[in-house]
Amino acid sequence: MQSLWNDADAPRFEGPLGQRVYTSRLLGQDHSLVLHGGGNTSVKIRQANLFREPEDVLYVKGSGWDLETIEAQGFAPVRLEHARRLATLEQLSDEQMVQQLRAAMTDPSAPTPSVETILHALLPARFVDHTHADALLAITNTSDGERRVREIYGDSVVVPYIMPGFDLARLVAELLPKHQSPNTVGLVLLNHGFFSFGDSARESYERMIELVSRAEAYLAAHAAVGPPVRVTTPPPVEYVELAALRRQVSQVAGAPMIMTTHTGARETSFVQRDDLAVITQQGPATPDHVIRTKRLPQLGSDVAAYAEAYAAYFAEHAAQTKQPLKMLDPAPRVALDPDIGLVTFGRTAQDAAIAFDVYSHTIDVILRAEALGGYLALSAAEIFAVEYWDLEQAKLKRGSSTPTFAGEVALVTGAASGIGKATVEALLRRGAAVVGLDLNPGVKDLFGKRVDFLGLETDVTREQDIAQALESAGRAFGGLDMLVLNAGIFGASRRIESLGLQEWRTVMDVNLDANLVLLRAAYPLLRCAPRNGRVVVIGSKNVPAPGPGAAAYSASKAALNQLARVAALEWGADGIRVNVIHPNAVFDTSLWTEDVLRSRAANYGLSVEDYRKNNVLRIEVTSRDVAEMAAEMCGPLFSRTTAAQVPVDGGNERVI
Ligand code: ZN
Repeated sequence: MQSLWNDADAPRFEGPLGQRVYTSRLLGQDHSLVLHGGGNTSVKIRQANLFREPEDVLYVKGSGWDLETIEAQGFAPVRLEHARRLATLEQLSDEQMVQQLRAAMTDPSAPTPSVETILHALLPARFVDHTHADALLAITNTSDGERRVREIYGDSVVVPYIMPGFDLARLVAELLPKHQSPNTVGLVLLNHGFFSFGDSARESYERMIELVSRAEAYLAAHAAVGPPVRVTTPPPVEYVELAALRRQVSQVAGAPMIMTTHTGARETSFVQRDDLAVITQQGPATPDHVIRTKRLPQLGSDVAAYAEAYAAYFAEHAAQTKQPLKMLDPAPRVALDPDIGLVTFGRTAQDAAIAFDVYSHTIDVILRAEALGGYLALSAAEIFAVEYWDLEQAKLKRGSSTPTFAGEVALVTGAASGIGKATVEALLRRGAAVVGLDLNPGVKDLFGKRVDFLGLETDVTREQDIAQALESAGRAFGGLDMLVLNAGIFGASRRIESLGLQEWRTVMDVNLDANLVLLRAAYPLLRCAPRNGRVVVIGSKNVPAPGPGAAAYSASKAALNQLARVAALEWGADGIRVNVIHPNAVFDTSLWTEDVLRSRAANYGLSVEDYRKNNVLRIEVTSRDVAEMAAEMCGPLFSRTTAAQVPVDGGNERVI
């Protein structure tokens, strides 16, 4: 492993805390060292307090911060003396520990210090770095792991596995003076990770690289690099089957879950291994990331059985802890199926993506450990202890407010601009994962690299394109809960006597026929929606009050309106709600260029300003106003409403 230290970058980070930020980010960049909020670092700084007395303060990574992107304010300042004294206590519950550390901070608004703070305080060096390196886990998670580790790290202090927190700090306090030598550059924690330390940020960081490199060299010397990836293609899976699996997992989780399917060569060749059950049903590579895995012999066949077994496992181990524990939801976060691939679940698309990243590293560890002689994870009791320790429970108790559409998936047509784009934004704001379809290829990059948005260049008038879009949606997020039919065209303004059949058909194709195809294809997915499916149709004021010169548009929207009403009748028994919005005079869409706006205003003898507000309320109507209505129609406010037609038009005299 190469050091990423760069003499040009380093001086831009000033002072010891700046240097601490710099090398923390170097560690965070490499996901084979730390994953998503894992790992932690610290620096001890002497500074003057308010009374101008010198005081030693430990700046340690705060919870909620990721080393990759950490800033100075991501480090919690804890009075060193107090943190060290805590280690002299006989006992300290996790809850007390957090309370004590928070009380010892010099800035009460700083984040909660890492659970490994006391250990950082006890290590005498100025800078301390801690990672959960994959290379070490591959060596330590074998039956002969401890012997191998002692062989590689004879000059370091080797610490047996113990849960992170107060007990681990106490154990290190006991072992360090006994085993430390002048050559000691770090601690090796079995089944857990490395601690390195040094007088400068660079020294501590480069000692970490040195520790990891030794593990890598050992693996290379023992040809433990894992088997080559066989390129195999999984059989195609019906997206409806994926949605059925997602529904089952959501049911046992008690809330809608995002489900992401991965079928890359690496994942596919892993899930198709003959010994999959043996190597994957033992536990996680590191207690820092507990990922519950289920192998599905047949698609969706035993999610309920898994949940039952999990509940029994919980009851058995909880009884031993003598603490009132609340069970986490019993749904798996990873499922392995030879026919569909590696599937991850999360309450958000982000959580499902993190589960994938974590499990990808677990695969690395498993394959290398297998090559070394056999993967062996922690015992069930130890995994249980990690999953249910006080801090996890505290997290559960705190609970954070869940967005309305967390775990749910929406599909919006015509998503690249205007009402469609605003609707995507409204749904994302409410926590949904969104698939956006548009003819415009720009839809793909509409929101940068967000994992909760999938933009697909799609011609909605092609049946094949629709099927492909739904399959992509199924693989990305697991199904469909909400469908917003927005894509539409206006056509040229023309009186009936000069309206060509082809022109008429083009408008009908997009505004009507395409929506029939999409509704038909989406129905089996909407029926599987954990909280029931919802459809919102973007109609038009032209339905109740058609305009001259817009025969094709008005007729197509009226027919679409009728289609929506029939869908509401037919699908009501499945719990699917279908509602319609009739917007009017929404001028911030691509249909309305400045030129069109000016000429239309002139037609009515109005200024552009007056034309924009030419309604009963004398108020402008924007895409966002329509989008907010569309999102609300999918939410609890409309839970008892189907087949409603709601105008968003500022009031129109012809409609009223
Ligand atoms: Zn750790």
